[in-house]
Amino acid sequence: KQEKLHAANMSDEQTFIAIKPDGVQRGLISPIIGRFENRGYKLVGIKMITPGKEHLEKHYADLSSKPFFPGLIKYMESGPICAMIWEGRDAVKTGRTLLGATNPLASAPGSIRGDFAIDVGRNVCHGSDSVENAKKEIALWFKEGEITSWKSAQHDWIYEK
Ligand code: GDP
Ligand code: MG
Repeated sequence: KQEKLHAANMSDEQTFIAIKPDGVQRGLISPIIGRFENRGYKLVGIKMITPGKEHLEKHYADLSSKPFFPGLIKYMESGPICAMIWEGRDAVKTGRTLLGATNPLASAPGSIRGDFAIDVGRNVCHGSDSVENAKKEIALWFKEGEITSWKSAQHDWIYEK
């Protein structure tokens, strides 16, 4: 039970968040970063990257049989992506909540997609959907030396414990 309590309180869960090419081109890097920063999450990795087809096909491997897959890869290949790792309690699930629903038309106002997007094929951001997938995605997008570990001066003002 002690271990479970500890796990529930952990503030070091990491999620992979990416601002897709449309988000970058539309000048949405700072508002998207702001949502995570303002909420209390900690940025531990960030870079601009224009990955090749092979990398993107790996990232979206589980969607390879979908009819929209070729268009999705072309979209993701169309310009630089801002790749990030955000850390904090429940970062994966809360990250998805901050992003909103996959289809922006179903995303609540106040969420990133609900405020900044209309079309499911131009939904400005990506976020890991499970802790397990977050680990896989972080390993795919980042090298070890690109991830930083730091204690935020705000930590004790964001977490009771
Ligand atoms: P996510 O985890 O919310 O990003 O959604 P998925 O993992 O299901 O899909 C990955 C990405 O593929 C989405 O963010 C969309 O950009 C795209 N996508 C998903 N469903 C559709 C669709 O029905 N049509 C098109 N054009 N793109 C889609
Ligand atoms: Mg997904």
